[in-house]
Amino acid sequence: MSEGLESYRKRAVQNLIDMGIIKRGIVAYALMKVPREDFIPEAYRNSAYVDSPIPIGWGQTTSALHMVAWMCEAAELKPGDKVLEVGGGCGYMAAVYAEIVAPPSNGRRGRVYTIEIISDLARKAEETIKKLGYADRVVVIHGDGSLGYPQAAPYDAIIVTAASPGAPKPLKEQLKIGGRLVIPIGSPHYVQELTVITRLDEESYREERLGGCVFVPLKGRHGWVREAL
Ligand code: SAM
Repeated sequence: MSEGLESYRKRAVQNLIDMGIIKRGIVAYALMKVPREDFIPEAYRNSAYVDSPIPIGWGQTTSALHMVAWMCEAAELKPGDKVLEVGGGCGYMAAVYAEIVAPPSNGRRGRVYTIEIISDLARKAEETIKKLGYADRVVVIHGDGSLGYPQAAPYDAIIVTAASPGAPKPLKEQLKIGGRLVIPIGSPHYVQELTVITRLDEESYREERLGGCVFVPLKGRHGWVREAL
């Protein structure tokens, strides 16, 4: 990694700490550890630590850094957690979650499942995840994540990185008791509300609205766009 990018990365993480978006050392550690520049197209490499969404091809973007940090904090990710991400994109966020739930120095080995509906994007994310040495902690799946991934359920946390009309029932049902679903709920075109749904017991859930955010629309069975795979 070039000196320049490393110092931009440090400054970006420090800004998120100063703004109160990063609250825990483990989230700062994860964002410091993962090279965002290696997940995005070469043309954007020098802008890797600008705190904004970055195009990743196929009409999609990888989320802004403050949104990545906000979602990690909202999901309360910790070492040992099993996490499902719906909307894998380029794989960057999955690598950040992996540094939190399965840091190499910690005996508690969590795992990340990330599901992406665009097959070429899923393939590319899987290549990068392998190249950077995350394949032992991150599983990339091509599929409709609005249905969750029951094969590995239940999860400590499910993070949806696309705008949803509501909280899909399969995702709520795939949470552990005490597990958290972090999901942008609202219009596919404008602003959504970042929402945390905590499973209290078999039947009941608590919902908290954290604030406004902007995401691309969730596709699939429980999304805004009923796109066939
Ligand atoms: N987390 C990603 C990253 O680290 O780059 C950014 C995700 S991007 C904001 C949203 C992604 O959700 C897009 O790549 C889009 O193709 C994907 N998506 C939309 N609907 C989906 C669905 N039903 N299942 C899986 N992925 C979906």
